[in-house]
Amino acid sequence: MSTPEQNDQQLEAMLAKALRRPGTQAIQVHDGNAPEGSEAVAVPVEAQRCGLVAIVGKPNVGKSTLLNALVGQKVSITSRKAQTTRHRITGLRTEGANQFVFVDTPGFQTRHGNALNRSLNKTVLGAVTDVDLILFVVEAGRFQPADAKVLDLLPASVPVILLANKFDLIHRRAELAPWLADMQGRHAFAEIVPMSASSTRDVGRLVTICEKYLPQQPWMHGADELTDRSERFLASEIVREKLFRLTGDELPYTSTVVIDKFEEEGRMRRIAATIVVERDGHKGMVIGEGGEKLKRIGTEARVELEKLLDAKVFLELWVKVRSGWADDDVRVRSFGYE
Ligand code: GDP
Ligand code: MG
Repeated sequence: MSTPEQNDQQLEAMLAKALRRPGTQAIQVHDGNAPEGSEAVAVPVEAQRCGLVAIVGKPNVGKSTLLNALVGQKVSITSRKAQTTRHRITGLRTEGANQFVFVDTPGFQTRHGNALNRSLNKTVLGAVTDVDLILFVVEAGRFQPADAKVLDLLPASVPVILLANKFDLIHRRAELAPWLADMQGRHAFAEIVPMSASSTRDVGRLVTICEKYLPQQPWMHGADELTDRSERFLASEIVREKLFRLTGDELPYTSTVVIDKFEEEGRMRRIAATIVVERDGHKGMVIGEGGEKLKRIGTEARVELEKLLDAKVFLELWVKVRSGWADDDVRVRSFGYE
């Protein structure tokens, strides 16, 4: 078995070989240094670096996994007043002199070409135009039309790191070389980083790579803050994410999630949420055969919330038609022990 250091070296060699072409400039090759420790040391304002980093990519490539790993889950999320910036901040990581502010791009919808999505994408585009760095996440070895659509939306003015995620699923690394070379031709990526968001070591390495993109400026947030979103808000976002992911193409984005109850009892949260849809037909899509779909939405949302909030979660989901009447008849409970 090779050591992690040897693995890194092999990886660098492979990357270098794949990407150094005669007449083109080689991309930066990383030294794989371990990230700095995260002890709380007072950092003088002059020395502080702080920057906005957007994580973008089509669904299922590992953005949430990455964000959670980047932010860490040691401490439960602190609820803060709303941001005044137009960025939707989902996560913070403060380490050494560096503060990473990860911004969310919720509107990145590539499946629907409708007006709503075009306008959402415009908002998103605005949100990624003035960040300091973009992490464009794809699955290593794959590049599909949906990936291309996201890439097309990225501004040329911001450095983009191509993050080839799920590298652990590639069994023969050498086979990735032609793909890497092909990817290099698709955008002037600042760097290409094959890695696994599920590997702590890889995530640490990514942080080291990203550090240099942070401008020297005072931190925007406290050193121990993890997010500026309330738990309540996160709960609605996560249910919404699962809702759209699991209903696929059919469900209009006009559907929303309302949190009816959010109770905190120590390390337990009791949450009740209502999915509000426009039409009876949409209700069926959300509920699914024998309630199966709604149950899955509830279970997946609960599992993610438990990780995020570091608490036991009892989630109760309801579906309502906005203007309907006998609306309250469908409900799913997604208890912690299911
Ligand atoms: P998102 O839709 O882009 O936010 O993707 P998620 O973070 O929800 O991840 C989608 C799926 O990919 C989940 O099942 C993750 O566990 C899985 N996943 C994420 N990162 C990795 C990785 O590095 N390796 C492997 N094997 N799976 C991963
Ligand atoms: Mg996600």
